[in-house]
Amino acid sequence: MNTVWVLGDQLNRHLGALADADPTTDRVLIIESTAKVTSKRWHVQRAHFVIASMRRFADELSAAGFEVDHRRSRSLADGFREHVDEFEPDEVIATEPASWDGLELFRDLGVTTVRSNQFLCHYQDFADWADGRNRLRMEDFYRWQRKRLGYLMDQDGEPVGGRWNFDDENREPPPGDESDPWAAPQTSRLDELDREVLADLDDVAFDNGGELWGTAPDGTWATTRRAALSRLRHFVDEVLPRFGPHEDAMVRRSWHLAHSTLSPYMNIGLLLPGEVCDAVQDAYDDGRVPLNSAEGFIRQVIGWREYVWGVYWLWMPEYRSANVLGADRALPPVFSGAASTEMNCVDHCLSTLHSKAYNHHIQRLMVLGNLAMLHGVDPWAMTTWMWSTFIDGAEWVMLPNVIGMSQWADGGRMATKPYAAGGNYIDTMSDYCGDCRFDRTQRVGDDACPFTTLYWDFLDRHHDRLVSNPRIARQVRAAEQLSDLDAVRSRAAVVRDRLDVGDL
Ligand code: SF4
Repeated sequence: MNTVWVLGDQLNRHLGALADADPTTDRVLIIESTAKVTSKRWHVQRAHFVIASMRRFADELSAAGFEVDHRRSRSLADGFREHVDEFEPDEVIATEPASWDGLELFRDLGVTTVRSNQFLCHYQDFADWADGRNRLRMEDFYRWQRKRLGYLMDQDGEPVGGRWNFDDENREPPPGDESDPWAAPQTSRLDELDREVLADLDDVAFDNGGELWGTAPDGTWATTRRAALSRLRHFVDEVLPRFGPHEDAMVRRSWHLAHSTLSPYMNIGLLLPGEVCDAVQDAYDDGRVPLNSAEGFIRQVIGWREYVWGVYWLWMPEYRSANVLGADRALPPVFSGAASTEMNCVDHCLSTLHSKAYNHHIQRLMVLGNLAMLHGVDPWAMTTWMWSTFIDGAEWVMLPNVIGMSQWADGGRMATKPYAAGGNYIDTMSDYCGDCRFDRTQRVGDDACPFTTLYWDFLDRHHDRLVSNPRIARQVRAAEQLSDLDAVRSRAAVVRDRLDVGDL
């Protein structure tokens, strides 16, 4: 018999090697690796989400007639060798992995790989698209995907509604009233398997010097395909109609707003991007969702998500070490929970992260990522922190989003300018600043907003690199002319020192 090896982010019967597997000729191998569990300080909900989903998927495959060798080993390589010794398969086959290290491991072990269909654009097709282009603009890729895949296209090959992009309708600040227009997410009841997973994770971490953090799972995150499909239906029916306008808003009364929260399921295979986009297209065709909401969501999936996947493979492995701004500070202790903070925005994002293992994209980019870049945190430290902390984390997701977008560590290969902002932006897009102990309008003095201080200091510190960038030159020139620039520099030094010791 052959063995089909299924990794923890390939949990779908329709994926790659498993799609053609047959219980009469193929055995399935699933390995829980101790080394993986202890490799990072994982959020407990993230670790539970993956392991519980793996165990339930193994049960589903057994119920479908497969012999499943589901083993716990010190490492993936050890588990593979133990399996081969015990079962002596004719061949071990696997779907292409979603990480550079995974690909190298499969090569080293002699595993035969089958082309992955976990994304709508294979990374080799992305490389062909990118070939010969001076600049890899996400918008160009997105339009190419729209035409190729046919989402929201009319008969003449033009975008429905006559526009490719409804971004300008999707950046509204939070609604002013206190009503909550966002549907509550579905939840699942935890069962015996969940409790076993949590106990096992505790044991593995304890026995091997690892550490988990965060609030224990509360049923927010589904761990079966059936429950993930139910989350998809709920999103399309109850949430998507409101998805567009407040995409970038941040409010304390809702951790989810109208975000889909479907990315974790797509990232481990419980949902596939095609079926998610098909459901949204159907809802639009039936008149159940407005065009700006449907377009905004489909752009996130076939545009941004697949673009990030493509550039990860195009630029690895060198991309891991990109650091053009020379940022070398450690992650401030507030990020790890070792310190508290009086910055309302940071406190809210980190509290939500602690309780849900989730922040939406603007909280990641414009609060936590922004602070790390302005402070000068080492980009790889920020990448691994986000990877281990968010429910939908993976290297392919976090590397471009952090190195490229939020930290601008690649010098502009992805983003044409750094996403740096002071307190004014956060105030416009959130309800965080009103009763914050700091004053978003002040850049010097004890009450100055740390974002505002560090923003001006960032423009000053990186003057020479940024002044020739037309997208940010005006702000750099404005920083140059500040009458209190010396005071800003002094205050920034104080802010950075206090961030380093968790006293801000
Ligand atoms: Fe954050 Fe500054 Fe606003 Fe306070 S004033 S919430 S620190 S942006």
